[in-house]
Amino acid sequence: MKKRIVILGAGESGVGSAILAKKNGEGVFVSDFGKIKEKYKQKLNDHKIQWEEEKHTEDLILNANEIIKSPGIPDKVDIVKSAIQKNIPVISEIEYASKYTNAYKICITGSNGKTTTATLTYHILKNAGLNIGLAGNVGKSWAQQVAEENYEYYVIELSSFQLDNMYDFKADIAILMNITPDHLDRYDGMQGYTNSKFRIIQNQTEEDFFIYCADDDITNKEITKRNIIAKKLPFSLKEKQLEGAYKENNNINIKYKSNKLTMSIHDLALKGQHNTYNSMAAGIAAQVLKIRKEDIRESLSNFHGVEHRLEPVLKVHGIEFINDSKATNVNSTWYALESMSDNLIWIAGGIDKGNDYSILDELVRKKVKAIICLGTDNAKIHKVFDNTVDTIIDVQSASEAVKTAYYLAKKGDSVLLSPACASFDLFENYEDRGNQFKQAVRDL
Ligand code: ADP
Repeated sequence: MKKRIVILGAGESGVGSAILAKKNGEGVFVSDFGKIKEKYKQKLNDHKIQWEEEKHTEDLILNANEIIKSPGIPDKVDIVKSAIQKNIPVISEIEYASKYTNAYKICITGSNGKTTTATLTYHILKNAGLNIGLAGNVGKSWAQQVAEENYEYYVIELSSFQLDNMYDFKADIAILMNITPDHLDRYDGMQGYTNSKFRIIQNQTEEDFFIYCADDDITNKEITKRNIIAKKLPFSLKEKQLEGAYKENNNINIKYKSNKLTMSIHDLALKGQHNTYNSMAAGIAAQVLKIRKEDIRESLSNFHGVEHRLEPVLKVHGIEFINDSKATNVNSTWYALESMSDNLIWIAGGIDKGNDYSILDELVRKKVKAIICLGTDNAKIHKVFDNTVDTIIDVQSASEAVKTAYYLAKKGDSVLLSPACASFDLFENYEDRGNQFKQAVRDL
């Protein structure tokens, strides 16, 4: 029988879900409490899908058989609470789409490194000739791809918000990059957030794989509490692993069954410790899928990286500018600072999600000669670093930040935008912040 499917939120995932539900012959209605972007209105109209914006009409929503909720909408909003009270199943796009495909799913979650690892894994597998799509938090909605494409494999990036409304979904390969404090405004403490991340392995069987970071304390602790059925393949920079991946001397070793691949870290396209983790995780998934070693090596060494993640912009008069605008928490900035050499001018600041900057202290002392604060309220950065760094200057725009950095820098120095904060005080989003930074560098 035809179901009534109501979709809350008309962004990439909501509109994709609507297109798939329509294709499945369901009754579809899309409701967004904000304004819907023109391109999405167009898509909904093209598919003859009914929608409303700037309101949630209860009568049109609470008669649904199933609600697909966009990951950006928290459970505590009234309409979701009412739906739950009425026992209407509330699921995510990913849960819904998974019922309509038999494709093999490689799923990636974690606090940091999801997009980089997902894109890198996709790069390796696509270059090896697999018929594969990339979906989830990156690029085109998965539901829409399930409706319109015919891929046999998918790499799917999953945020904890997507995982929260997934129940029967199963990842064939689950990758958990790390767990560090983030989004604690939406979770019931660290355990709530950890539980959400561990949904990546729910429903897995002995035939499936769980790839995770053996150096991550929270992950390790959680593993000891659980009965994990999938084949565990850890990766580590610190300890040798029987299977999985590890670093020894300056090589990474990736092992699955009798297959072993060794590669110098100098040959990896992505630099820095965090990226070595990302390369190891992607490499293990490729080994499991029996990709030829030559192909894995080649793809790990020729990957171009993802925009706004330690992205080299330009060298101007011997001063290198690097855009890491996606670093919106302290942990990712730690890895960015770690991967840089000394004589650094660091551009930081924005909206702080309860940051503890003290973990950066040692790296800042060693490497940073000046800090440029790019935010409306920089008091906390001053408080922590005023005694550590001689020069700390406040600016209010990307172009001012770049000009000030250029003025302070000498030949051979680097300028790193790695804010450790969200961008919404001065920018539309982190992409806007990164793009304005890059434009300002080009304008020098
Ligand atoms: P996500 O999709 O999880 O937000 P990204 O790949 O977009 O992760 O990277 C976000 C930020 O975190 C970037 O600044 C990047 O340099 C940094 N980063 C990337 N991989 C890792 C990792 N494995 N651990 C910590 N930080 C990372």
